[in-house]
Amino acid sequence: MNIDWLIVGAGFSGCVLAEQIATRLDEKVLIVEKRDHLGGNAYDCYDENGVLVHLYGPHLFHTNSKKIWDYLSKFTEWKIYHHHAQSVIDGKSVPVPFNLNTLYRLFPQGYASRMEEKLIEQFGFGNKVPILKLLEDSDGDIQQLAEYIYKKVFYGYTTKQWGMDPKELDASVTGRVPIHISRDDRYFQDKYQGIPMQGYTQMFRNMINHPNIKLLLNTDYKELGDYFKNSKKIYTGPIDAYFDYSFGELPYRSLEFHSVHHPDQDTFQPTAQVNYPNDYDFTRITEYKKITSQKIKGTTTVFEYPCPYSPQKNDPYYPIPKKENHELFQKYQSEAQKLKGQVWFVGRLAEYKYYNMDQVVARAHHVFEKEIVQYKQNGSSRKRLT
Ligand SMILES: Cc1cc2nc3c(=O)[nH]c(=O)nc-3n(C[C@H](O)[C@H](O)[C@H](O)COP(=O)(O)OP(=O)(O)OC[C@H]3O[C@@H](n4cnc5c(N)ncnc54)[C@H](O)[C@@H]3O)c2cc1C
Repeated sequence: MNIDWLIVGAGFSGCVLAEQIATRLDEKVLIVEKRDHLGGNAYDCYDENGVLVHLYGPHLFHTNSKKIWDYLSKFTEWKIYHHHAQSVIDGKSVPVPFNLNTLYRLFPQGYASRMEEKLIEQFGFGNKVPILKLLEDSDGDIQQLAEYIYKKVFYGYTTKQWGMDPKELDASVTGRVPIHISRDDRYFQDKYQGIPMQGYTQMFRNMINHPNIKLLLNTDYKELGDYFKNSKKIYTGPIDAYFDYSFGELPYRSLEFHSVHHPDQDTFQPTAQVNYPNDYDFTRITEYKKITSQKIKGTTTVFEYPCPYSPQKNDPYYPIPKKENHELFQKYQSEAQKLKGQVWFVGRLAEYKYYNMDQVVARAHHVFEKEIVQYKQNGSSRKRLT
């Protein structure tokens, strides 16, 4: 088989780059994927009861970029979907991220209305304020409310999610959690939000449906040995694995999913996602029918248990945002730099970075435009000179 590019990994990064190389450079690509399916962590499939589920956790597409939305719209139609989530606080199911509706659901009317006024006056209606900013506010009442939110909504969830006290994580994690001074209950406020009409997997199939692209599943690229050694390579797997963990393993948090089908119940919970920050060992329950609007009898719920990651045992999910982990990543990154022009490292595992789906599509486009096209142009001009 003659190929120009070997792409390791059939997730968003690998599929977008394959599509761009095949259609815009008219070059031949082989994607090698070690799992038995394409789509990476955004893969969806029907469970044994016929319910469409996201096998690696709920994936909700949202972006403010018209360019990314239009690009993906070439491969799918969208079901318009605005995600809503609730959190069980003091036994009540209330909207999250914390907003003015949450305030009224948790506190007596008089207190809620006084705090609403204060928050609007201080931060302006419609704005999002990081919890750390609220905690540092000079107003004692705001500070007290922030302490309540931190303790009841944020602390337990984050501790379970990462397996450590939030103080041990980069301040960016705590800093990011927003309080929304608004009555907008939606989880995201992006301009474009939706779920691929026929599912993510079908969108990926459409994306790589091109005569220049071949897909090899169930294969670790290392099994190919030197077979494609003359091809250029795009690597979207874990960067530490590429370098045989020579500096040690990059820490990740992993997840276990326990699925429960309810044949006699058409609905299980009020919203697609319900978080349990303070009770149980799972962080959240997802009810997929509420995301996909699938018309089917019964419903499937998936309980999400964060757990430690080990390369031999389970999958890497979230890079753990700590300074020393970033420093370890940088050692691998310097090794990757030495392979510039031969291997491109792209995506959440190769860059040890949490990317949302729209961000990883944007990243793949950036690599294509700024690095691959440029590399081709330099290569061609070198050829013309010789
Ligand atoms: C629980 C969870 C929920 C999420 N929810 C959202 C959401 O709601 N909205 C959102 O925008 N983003 C969400 N994301 C982020 C989203 O999953 C990522 O943006 C996206 O998956 C990144 O794509 P990728 O191609 O970089 O990586 P991946 O999807 O991980 O693809 C990499 C692929 O490389 C393969 N691979 C690795 N090593 C090898 C090897 N040696 N040989 C062959 N193949 C290999 C892997 O099997 C994998 O298929 C979520 C992430 C998680 C973990």
